[in-house]
Amino acid sequence: MKVYVVGIGLIGGSMVLDIKGLYPEAIVFGVDTNEAHIAEALKLGVIDQAAKLEDVGDADFVIVSVPVDIAMVVLPQVLDYIDEETIVFEVGSTKNPICEAVANHSKRRNFIATHPIAGTEFSGPSAAITGLFQGKTNIICEVEKTTFKLQEKALDLFRAIGMRIRYMDPKSHDKHIAYVSHLSHISSFMLGKTVMEKEKFEQDIFDMAGSGFESTVRLAKSSPAMWTPIFKQNKDQVIETLEEYISNLTQFKELLQKEDYQAIYDEMQGVNKIKGILNGLKK
Ligand code: NAP
Repeated sequence: MKVYVVGIGLIGGSMVLDIKGLYPEAIVFGVDTNEAHIAEALKLGVIDQAAKLEDVGDADFVIVSVPVDIAMVVLPQVLDYIDEETIVFEVGSTKNPICEAVANHSKRRNFIATHPIAGTEFSGPSAAITGLFQGKTNIICEVEKTTFKLQEKALDLFRAIGMRIRYMDPKSHDKHIAYVSHLSHISSFMLGKTVMEKEKFEQDIFDMAGSGFESTVRLAKSSPAMWTPIFKQNKDQVIETLEEYISNLTQFKELLQKEDYQAIYDEMQGVNKIKGILNGLKK
């Protein structure tokens, strides 16, 4: 089995580590514009050999795992190079622009649009870990546009690495993901900014920061190179979520100004229902 990973970072790297664990005969080829990442991935055993984009012709699987703006350029090129039997999947955090970008490509049926809902705040090959996708959801868009045989090949692989499959159209994906992922990142970045601007001496932050602060700002360590194009591609949906979020923050502030502590209590108690919702998702 020949697997090519284009963009050897957290997601692509973790995926090929799982593939190597499951299929010891698999040979993993890495394509990356960052030479240091190629060297690191070889040293860490994430990939077996370095390769070029134009080598993907003999691949069984190609995983495109680069920032979403770069995927718009790279994915059509990969489709140009592949053979009839190759299945290509792209793992970006937005789905509508990429689906539109390859809608009329002659090899559209060799492509499956995915978004594995798994990750950490770290980037690059050293961030790749085994088991990242175990028990996580993989959102598949426009599955009907992928050849049935290749669809099955990809889905079998996703299930083998422990993923649950959910199907969604790309526009709905981008709308919903704006709430549960994109807004969480902005809120974490801006919380980090607010605290850093106020607490000029960083040591004070570390001395007083409890686990609550640390877990809430964890996402603020994420890569701007990855997140800027995501916000750009999903701008309208993200602005809508931000307006709703800002309105909730303003309302909370007004309740405090009015000293309406019963309403504040009720607000928080209402949101406590999230515990049940999240527990339900883990089952
Ligand atoms: P990452 O760790 O930064 O890895 C991306 C790799 O692609 C880097 O080595 C990067 O090099 C390289 N690259 C950049 N331009 C390239 C090009 N033209 N050709 C080949 N390689 C190139 O990123 P990631 O977190 O794995 O994210 C990859 C994709 O997965 C993104 O589309 C993201 O939206 C999606 N995703 C991320 C998460 C998450 O939690 N991180 C979760 C689900 C999906 P440089 O660092 O030098 O640019």
